[in-house]
Amino acid sequence: MRTPDAVCGCGCGCAGEAEQDDWPEPDKGAMRFLIASGVWMLAYGGYAVARRRPRWFPLWLAALVTWFTLCKYLICTRCENYGKACDFYYLGKWAARLFPAQPGRSLDTAGIIAEGGSVAVLQFLPALATLGSWRMFFTFIAALVTNQGAQISICCRRCIRYSTDPWKRETCPSYKLAEKLFPPKV
Ligand code: SF4
Ligand code: SF4
Repeated sequence: MRTPDAVCGCGCGCAGEAEQDDWPEPDKGAMRFLIASGVWMLAYGGYAVARRRPRWFPLWLAALVTWFTLCKYLICTRCENYGKACDFYYLGKWAARLFPAQPGRSLDTAGIIAEGGSVAVLQFLPALATLGSWRMFFTFIAALVTNQGAQISICCRRCIRYSTDPWKRETCPSYKLAEKLFPPKV
């Protein structure tokens, strides 16, 4: 992980390592793949719930809206990438269109519950709804695995290297997994 405000200490006045380690632009091809996998997972998940368990669909839709609004308020407005085309689906820009930044605030229990609850509904409800239709079940699982794999190898892999927000390191389970999968080169 990048050390916050790290400088090389040589006394020449340059930013040293901090400058080299500035968060570089994400690869556009990788981002296209990541976004496509997210759209596939969400679109197929919503379709599967609506088709197999129409009564569950309002809950799935509420989770989707929560994730794209409340979670952005509780998390993105307190993130170092607020307002930026961040690695996580460029959502730092989306958050800035909805809410002002909340500098000085960090991820709290409300953010953890909102994120965990909405993601759980978006991921588990389609899986439950498709039980009994193996074709739909495995199509959704394929979409979910592809999306999660893209997320960990594209966003989280770079997050553990470049992020400085302590809450990511301290609370995010994907951060811990990415550290195991992509340990720093020595
Ligand atoms: S890195 Fe994550 S929390 Fe930060 S702005 Fe982007 S989507 Fe939001
Ligand atoms: S490691 Fe956690 S905080 Fe960082 S991009 Fe992945 S999910 Fe987001």
